[in-house]
Amino acid sequence: MFSSFLIKYGEIGVKGKNRYLFENALMQQIKYALKRCEGSFNVHKAEGRIYVDALGDYDYDETVANLQCVFGITGICPVEMLDVCNPESLKKAVVDYIGRNHDTKDHTFKIHARRAHKNYPLDSMELNALIGEAVLDEYEGLKVDVHDPDYLITVEIREKIYLYSTVIAGPGGMPVGTNGKAMLLLSGGIDSPVAGYMISKRGVKIDAVYFHAPPYTSERAKQKVIDLAKQVAKYSGPIYLHIVNFTDIQLAIYEKCPHDELTIIMRRYMMKIAETIAKETECLGLITGESIGQVASQTMASLACTNEVCTLPVFRPCIGMDKQEIVNISEKIGTYETSILPFEDCCTIFVAKHPVTKPSLEVIKRHEKHLDDCIDEMFKEALDTRETLVVTSE
Ligand code: ATP
Ligand code: MG
Repeated sequence: MFSSFLIKYGEIGVKGKNRYLFENALMQQIKYALKRCEGSFNVHKAEGRIYVDALGDYDYDETVANLQCVFGITGICPVEMLDVCNPESLKKAVVDYIGRNHDTKDHTFKIHARRAHKNYPLDSMELNALIGEAVLDEYEGLKVDVHDPDYLITVEIREKIYLYSTVIAGPGGMPVGTNGKAMLLLSGGIDSPVAGYMISKRGVKIDAVYFHAPPYTSERAKQKVIDLAKQVAKYSGPIYLHIVNFTDIQLAIYEKCPHDELTIIMRRYMMKIAETIAKETECLGLITGESIGQVASQTMASLACTNEVCTLPVFRPCIGMDKQEIVNISEKIGTYETSILPFEDCCTIFVAKHPVTKPSLEVIKRHEKHLDDCIDEMFKEALDTRETLVVTSE
């Protein structure tokens, strides 16, 4: 029975002073992910490695699945632990371990012994030879390959003896919290949760803003966005979700601006409001789920118009992806099923039949002047009346 996991993480960015920041952020995210699992765990660092020890009963599959949500982890090694014993008993324990965990027909192996404390009676070379021989004697189908073995059996002698040989892939990336914070424009669609996931994967903490337009958009549409934030929070950690009432601004645009420019003008105000909240909350950038050419508001000319209102960098990780590629990621991260629920979001209600695909910034700005007498007040009202929820994955 595996009672511990050795956590492998990439070495990039783990040098010098950064190492401790990286490891602490990783441990914090591991603890957050394990809160979703049955059982209790001790997450600790020992000799430059991170271990997750199970304290009593736990669900193996659930634990592995949740560790696979922690960015920065490249591999998860399930470990069997035994009390320190003499070389003869250790030899038998490793033979047993291999019998229980591996196919012993036509495979190659290598024993990799390490001693954290040098007072064990045999050194690592002697242990490799002793254990390797015992394995060869026991299993005729196994052969030694020291260069490229099928099973690398690690035997680590510490305050306990750790046996492991399997590496389950982690998600890679960097631990959340090591790379500042950004504000995600989160709609109920497929793309923006994926965009949040991808930026979070690089170690960026995420806050989010959702624009709703009651009564044109329903409570259920809002709940859908909260549910999506919950899914993303499995990976990104807790998300401060700002819910902004966009109805008045949307109605004003609808009344006073040409309908074919509605979406672009609306998107410009969304970006402006998101940026204002971002700056208040120390976010260093905005994130959207835009992808070139996906819809009229995402042509190069439209993106240029939307982008023009922003002074913070706007990160668009889906920008070069086809819809199917975005869908594949959303299925992998578990947001797809929620994203395709059929509730209206505020964009789909106020859409023009023939939206511009090549908006001119000059013309857009001229038409936005029609809002001059009311927009400042509405802008302030939208910010002041926002609701902020802390969304966690539990
Ligand atoms: P998604 O699948 O993410 O909803 P979409 O294909 O529906 O995207 P648009 O509606 O044009 O595309 O929106 C483009 C981006 O603008 C979204 O990915 C999202 O980042 C942001 N956005 C759109 N509507 C909203 C909203 N109501 N609240 C917050 N952000 C939004
Ligand atoms: Mg959308």
